[in-house]
Order: sequence, then C-alpha cells, then structure tokens
Amino acid sequence: MTSPRVVVVGAGQGGLETAAALRGRGFSGRITLVGDECVLPYQRPPLSKGFLTGATGATDPADLELRPASFFATQGIDLVPGDRAERIDRECRVLHLESGAALPYDHLVLATGARPRPLPVPGAGLSGVLALRGLRDAHTLRRELSGPARHLVVVGAGFIGLELAATARTLGHEVTVVEAQSRALARALTPEMSAWLTDEHRRQGVRLLLSREVAALHGDPSGQVEIMELDGGERIPAELVVVGIGVLPHTELAAEADLVVGDGIVVDERLRTSDPAIHAVGDCARFPRPGARGHTRIESVQNASDQARCVAADICGEGAPYTAVPWFWSEQYAVRLQIAGLTAGHDEVVLAGDPGEARFSVFCFQAGRLVGVESVNRPADHGIARRLLAGGTDLSPEEVGAPGFDLKQYQRAPAPAPAPAPVTAPRERPVHVAHA
Ligand code: FAD
Ligand code: NDP
Repeated sequence: MTSPRVVVVGAGQGGLETAAALRGRGFSGRITLVGDECVLPYQRPPLSKGFLTGATGATDPADLELRPASFFATQGIDLVPGDRAERIDRECRVLHLESGAALPYDHLVLATGARPRPLPVPGAGLSGVLALRGLRDAHTLRRELSGPARHLVVVGAGFIGLELAATARTLGHEVTVVEAQSRALARALTPEMSAWLTDEHRRQGVRLLLSREVAALHGDPSGQVEIMELDGGERIPAELVVVGIGVLPHTELAAEADLVVGDGIVVDERLRTSDPAIHAVGDCARFPRPGARGHTRIESVQNASDQARCVAADICGEGAPYTAVPWFWSEQYAVRLQIAGLTAGHDEVVLAGDPGEARFSVFCFQAGRLVGVESVNRPADHGIARRLLAGGTDLSPEEVGAPGFDLKQYQRAPAPAPAPAPVTAPRERPVHVAHA
C-alpha cells in the first residue's frame, strides 16, 4: 500500500504548523507545503510591532522565520515557495498550481489566510496608501516610517490600526486614527477596555477620531497622497495612509471547487470542509464553536496553530472536535494586552487591579459564567484565566468583585461553592474579533 500524500495550501502560520504537527505525530507519508510568497514561512505579529521599530530585535526577516530552511529537509517536508494553487480537481484529488505543476493528494489542507479589505473610497489607489499583511508590506512601511516625522493617518482602530499608531508615535510621527465605529476595537474588546485603550492612545498624542468615515483621498500632481477628506468635508493632512479595516478570507480556491463557503471556508467540528478529504484551518476557516450558535472565524496565531494540530490529528486517524480556548495578545507602547476566551455576548464585567497603574483585568461573565478575561500587564491573570476557561470554572462576579481579590490565590484555593444565579439581566454586547 502506498503511504498517504498530504498537500497543504498556504505556507503561513496554519500551513506550516499543519506540516510540522503531522511529522510530530509520526505521519510518514509525503507532505507538500505550497505557498505563494517567495520566502520561508514567517511570523506576522512582529510586522506591526518590533519589525518596524527595531525594538525587539526582530528586524531581520530571518528573525521572523517560523522554522529554519534546514527544518524542511530534516523533516522531509517539500516546501514549494513562490507558487500559487489555482484549482482543485476534487474528482481526481489533484491540486493544480500556477506553474503548471499538478500535485496528487489523499488529504488537502487549505490554510490560505486572508487579505486586507480595500478602502472603498476615491483616491485609495494613490501612492502612499498602504496596507499591512505580509513581509513585503512591512518592508515598505518600515522604509516610509524610518525617515523624518510625517503625518500618518491610520484608517481603522482595530488591531492593525492601534498597533501601528503606537509604533508610529514611538518613532515620532504625527498620528491620526479614523475609526467608523463609535469605539476602538469594538469587535474584540469590552467597552471598558476599549475606553481605557483609547485614553492611552490619546495620552500618547494620537488623534483618535471615532464614528468618522473617510470620504476620499486627494493627491498631489505626482499621484502621492497628501489630504484625507472625512465625512462632513473636514480635510486633514495625510502624507502616509495605512488602511487596517479588517480582512477578507481567501476562499476563492474552495469556492471554485464547489466547497461550502461564506465569509470563510465552512468546516465541521473536526475542521473538515464539505469534502471530507479537504480540511481548512486558520483565518480562512469558519468553524462551529462548542456551546455557541452558528459558525465563527477567528483571526489569530493561537487559532491557526491549534487548528493545525487538530487537523494533523484527524489526518492521522486520532481526531477529536476542535475545542481550544481562543486567546489573543497585542502590544502597544508599554501595554501588553492579553485576552483569554471570547467575550462576545457577555452581560456583566468586573474589574480587578488598577487601571491608573496600567495593571488590571476585566473579567467578563455571561449569565454568571466566566467567558473571557482581558488583561493589561497582568500576564499571570491571563495564564490562569486560560486554564480556568479550558477546565470550566465556578468563579463568580461576586468573588472577583470582593476587596483584595487575587486570581492566583483563587486558583490555589480549594474548589469554591457553585456559582449563584446571575445577578443582572443579560444585555446586548458587540461580538469579538471572531466573526460570528
Ligand atoms: P497566513 O499566516 O496569512 O498564511 C496564509 C498564507 O497562504 C499566506 O502566505 C498567503 O500568501 C498564502 N496563500 C493564500 N492563497 C494561496 C494560494 N492560492 N496558493 C498558495 N498560497 C496561498 N495574531 C495574533 O494572535 N497576535 C498578534 O499579535 C498578531 N499580529 C499580527 C500582525 C500583523 C501585521 C498581521 C498581518 C497579523 C497579525 N496577527 C496576529 C494575525 C495572525 O498573524 C494570523 O491570524 C495568522 O497568521 C493566520 O494564519 P493563517 O495560516 O491562517 O494565514
Ligand atoms: P480588525 O477587524 O481588527 O479592525 C478593523 C477596524 O476597522 C474595525 O473596527 C472596523 O469596523 C473598522 N473599519 C471598517 N471599515 C472602516 C472604514 N471604512 N473606515 C474606518 N474604520 C473602518 O482588522 P485589522 O485590519 O485591524 O487587522 C487585520 C488582521 O490582522 C486581523 O486578522 C487581525 O486579527 C490581525 N492582527 C492581529 C493583531 C493582534 O492580534 N494583536 C495585530 C495586528 C493584526 P467594523 O468592525 O465595523 O468592520
């Protein structure tokens, strides 16, 4: 019997981790990892942070590599960089590449990620209007930010927008952020954390405009952007514009192969698409979350990595439903923000610690049950929260609200009595970074 062949499309976080996890589990068949970028698989998180400032030492592309070149040889993983998967022939189980190569597969894994959503206004194609997704974008941005102070306008107060705002302020640029929502990071953060972070940016000198939209961008005669026109007609200087208004999952390959798609490639609890020989992981996958209604798409390193491990197990015949607790992090100025769980739908928050000292956590409950914890510079809270959320917990809002509450002590204490009934009626809250 021939050994099975796995082809992975997308050599980013999820694709690389799938290949590595398969070998880690002892999978002995052929593994081919196809990526349309011409470099070794790399980490994206530093691209909006240390890669631009040089602060963390992650300034050389080699520092960003997820694995060195030797890894692929020693693990027997055929890396095909700089080629694009163009068509899946599901009947013959063959993947066709742009180069003309045809790769037969027994299992295909789609880890195609996402691309930045374009800004739908006149002038968006001017020179000096940038997006940030890959290494090439980051090189351009680093060059632009390395010169004298300029007027940078960031569109979108999401993760990209706020991390870039912090980076550019640190480098001495004038920064304006324009956000269409009434608050920053509205899908990812509680209103309480969102308000605190907004204040922090304003303290650092960022002009953060909420509930404002871009109407048009205007350039000079050479086609270089110089003015941003907002709704209502206000015009602001914009020597450089970075657009961070969310991403669109790469679903075209799946859609053309008649797999079920809809804001992501739709998968089941084992991350199998509507064709059981094809899985999808990471930013492009829309999956059912245990205990939640409908499907969700999560854009994070944790999600791509844990889903990759889940798919590798399934391919090796040791699969189980995907149930990992989501977590996220962000770095802005001296703020390390960490989020455990998904807070969408929470109806009560309790704050522990001292926002004035930039060391606190926001505990989010839904019907009295802990669903997520946002922490600023409290890594221990984050680590413990992840464990509590994974194992199930009776931690109640009253316990967190008690004077002197300390999550480390709570964790060490014997199991508390069952949680009381919810103390407040549920009310609507915006959803998280996950796209429900
Ligand atoms: P990707 O890593 O995007 O990989 C997909 C790959 O597939 C890409 O290389 C793409 O070019 C390739 N591809 C697409 N279509 C094809 C095709 N047809 N053929 C061949 N190749 C194809 N997450 C966090 O948790 N914390 C952070 O601090 C953080 N910071 C970030 C900073 C930046 C600037 C960015 C852009 C993202 C950040 N993220 C962060 C998000 C995180 O990087 C992504 O969620 C993660 O990379 C998703 O992994 P993925 O494998 O799904 O997609
Ligand atoms: P996000 O979805 O985090 O945020 C985009 C923000 O822009 C949202 O608040 C969005 O509002 C708003 N917006 C949408 N359209 C407009 C508009 N026309 N004008 C002004 N604001 C608008 O996406 P990002 O672009 O920030 O991030 C892209 C990807 O990178 C994501 O996958 C993210 O997870 C990832 N990333 C993660 C990081 C981390 O985890 N630390 C760091 C950097 C990037 P609405 O919600 O209404 O669309």
